[in-house]
Amino acid sequence: MALSPMMQQYMIVKQKYEDCILMYRVGDFYEMFFDDAIKASKILGLTLTGKDCGLDERAPMCGVPYHSVSSYISGLVENGQKVAICEQLTEPIKGSIVKRDVTRVITSGTRIDVDSLDEKSNNFICAISLVDGQFGVAWADISTGELYCAQITEKGDVSSLLERLIKIAPSEIISTSEVCKLKIADMVKGMIPNVASYHDWAFEHATAMKKLKKHFGVNTLEPYGISRKKECVSAVGGLLEYVEDTQKRKLDNLCSVRLIESKNYMSIDSNTFRNLDLIKNSRDGGKFGTLYSLLNKTETPMGARLLTSVIEKPLINYEQIKSRQFAVKELIEEDYTRDSIVELLSKIRDIARLSGRIAYGNATPVDLYSLKNSLAPIPRVKECLSLFNSEKIKELNTVINPFVEFCAYLDSAISENATSQTKDGGYIKEGFNEELDRLKLLAINGKSLILELEEREKERTGIKGLKIGYNRIFGYYIEVSKNFQDQVPLNYVRKQTVANAERYITEELKNLENEILSATENSIKLELKLFNDVINYSKTLVSSLIETAEGIGMLDVLTSFAIVSKNNDYVMPTMDKDGEEISIISGRHPIVEKINKNEQFISNDCYINSTDCRTIILTGPNMAGKSTYMRQIALIALMAQIGCFVPAKSAKLPIFDKIFTRVGASDNLIFDQSTFMVEMIEVSNILHNATKNSLIILDEVGRGTATLDGLAIAFAVVKYITNEIRAKTLFATHYHELTDLEGTFDGVRNYHISVKEINGKIIFLRKILRGGINRSFGIEVASLAGLPKYVIKESRAILRLLEESDAIASKKQMTLDDFNEEKKIDYSKVKEKLDNIDVDEISPRLALDILEELKDMVK
Ligand code: ATP
Repeated sequence: MALSPMMQQYMIVKQKYEDCILMYRVGDFYEMFFDDAIKASKILGLTLTGKDCGLDERAPMCGVPYHSVSSYISGLVENGQKVAICEQLTEPIKGSIVKRDVTRVITSGTRIDVDSLDEKSNNFICAISLVDGQFGVAWADISTGELYCAQITEKGDVSSLLERLIKIAPSEIISTSEVCKLKIADMVKGMIPNVASYHDWAFEHATAMKKLKKHFGVNTLEPYGISRKKECVSAVGGLLEYVEDTQKRKLDNLCSVRLIESKNYMSIDSNTFRNLDLIKNSRDGGKFGTLYSLLNKTETPMGARLLTSVIEKPLINYEQIKSRQFAVKELIEEDYTRDSIVELLSKIRDIARLSGRIAYGNATPVDLYSLKNSLAPIPRVKECLSLFNSEKIKELNTVINPFVEFCAYLDSAISENATSQTKDGGYIKEGFNEELDRLKLLAINGKSLILELEEREKERTGIKGLKIGYNRIFGYYIEVSKNFQDQVPLNYVRKQTVANAERYITEELKNLENEILSATENSIKLELKLFNDVINYSKTLVSSLIETAEGIGMLDVLTSFAIVSKNNDYVMPTMDKDGEEISIISGRHPIVEKINKNEQFISNDCYINSTDCRTIILTGPNMAGKSTYMRQIALIALMAQIGCFVPAKSAKLPIFDKIFTRVGASDNLIFDQSTFMVEMIEVSNILHNATKNSLIILDEVGRGTATLDGLAIAFAVVKYITNEIRAKTLFATHYHELTDLEGTFDGVRNYHISVKEINGKIIFLRKILRGGINRSFGIEVASLAGLPKYVIKESRAILRLLEESDAIASKKQMTLDDFNEEKKIDYSKVKEKLDNIDVDEISPRLALDILEELKDMVK
């Protein structure tokens, strides 16, 4: 038995898209067959049926209605599947097979459906190339038109490549077969998707170069700064080829490529990213408690997305940082204008993704309506911007195009009743096209046009009884009774004779009839044509629309900074060009101060310079606020370099090239790394990469191993950073021995976070003070955490013993006060108790109780 003709056609198409689930259009449904049907029915919860396919057994089949296909596609793609959409390309004719082919392949990185994408985040597809041992990375969000590339500067540097990929967080990665062999995804299990190979030829430098020039319509790649960066050209080439191959069209919204050079931005490694809770929190990966959620008061999707990228890429150029900060300053000062800008921004929807849909060719009438509404407030935004003096805002005002004419054009074309459907018409506005208005009128008012004609004919012929009627066989006719036959004009053509009258048609009546009957159909066709004209015109504006979307996004981010800065009493930091000192007065942790409602946040100063106070050794009890303090310094530095104001009374800061943080204990068992191993890898990374212009935050080093080993490592690390790297460093530790380093190494200073002990209870004062502290109050904090009383008591006793033996073992000169607990026993209370006993009166039971109490008092 042979497959039926349709299934033969299916098989031919399927062969070309073996790695995809093929959705095959049959009438009003997209059908899936064989293994695809089994897989899709499980993922989407569809009923699996069967279809006669010409073979003995029916082909497993499941299907989804065409009008709701996008949600099913999303379901499959989110499950990691690629979906190939096979459309009917010809009208069905009885007896012959409809022509079909794949019109689009949807993968997780090439989704363009606005509804299925999170408007606050980008959806990146990424390509990795390897040219002469050097990696290149290109990444694009095809829904917004953003396209970037970067070179991994060190040859064969896989860890820098991984760092870059983790930051981009693409949803799909393609590469050459050579890169695929490196099994990059395995190295960071779960953090980046698998790397699939794509045709090596697409990444070949010469092919890629040609591809780029053709795509951007240029003779040289010099303006993009990548003409000599072979690995970048190769990665972008591979990416463009893949995107066109899956989308089956050239994507005009990817109209330029931006080279991201690490030397232009502060480098923040992925640990620091996590430790500082910048975009996602380290607890559950959500947004709660992150710098992003604190700073996000944006109104537009472009602003919300750009904020992520702004936080990821703090600036290191003095002028650029100041230019953003001055813009924020003016936006804070000009309350009234800022409020107007916010109000206007709130009306602007996703211009970038709407432009993407226009470029892609799948924009619907409601998309254009929404675009028109989003463009309408822009001239007023520009009016507001023209009131500012800051260079950055002036620059944004030139980037943002007012689109007055285009907006008016869209307004004249697209009706407010527009939906995403075009099949029933009704989305082109009245007055946009005369012919369309006439057709619509015809469709609605056919009857009255016939009555008008009847009146005209009566008048012209003088036949009072003339009437126009309709029957299914002849259509419209003019009926004249037999008595008036001699008045019938010559252009009347007789069609039928009835009892007392003759029926005629005229050319005019016939034309009117044709028009009335086909008016609806023709108006739908004409609307579609007009809509396509509007789309085609809009396509010519895509690159300018994207540029405007970027400008609006940046304005939104800066306005958001201004709002947050004003609401939280932040100040404009002074940036120290020469990188000499950090001087923060009354600094606060921007997130802890907002989240912790139980306690008033206590501000603290910070002073670090590049000479005698480079490394701060920070001691203090557990829970005192050491980590909070150190992170607050890092966050203040980062906020300043993204152009925001900072939570302090005043702040003078150097421009840091890198921020490193090594915080807390965590293991990475799935990567075969123990807690201590993770700690040491992180420290090693810092020691290798930090420079004198970096900020290093070390929260406990050496805790994951034996005390003496750990202490030795911590000593050596501090010494190396202070003497060799000379970076500005905060080092929190419970190894109180490290405080001895002040005075031993030039540049080390001790600070501690103060507490008060009252009746064995500690009160956290949260104030940072000069000098070290030699107790951690760990047992008191454990007691606060609710450890059983017995365990606490036992811990105290053991601690005493340990401290004694430690002191003896190290032959350390200790004063009695160091560990003689006796001094703390208040014998006056014991005496008072004894004096109060009346020996003649006391019962044996009470005597025993008092004895027990006295024992406790002197323990
Ligand atoms: P450990 O040594 O146990 O890691 P730590 O000294 O690093 O403790 P943190 O984790 O920084 O202590 O702070 C503990 C808690 O104290 C924080 O969760 C925060 O809520 C609060 N806290 C810290 N600093 C301040 C401050 N300046 N003002 C108010 N509350 C603070």
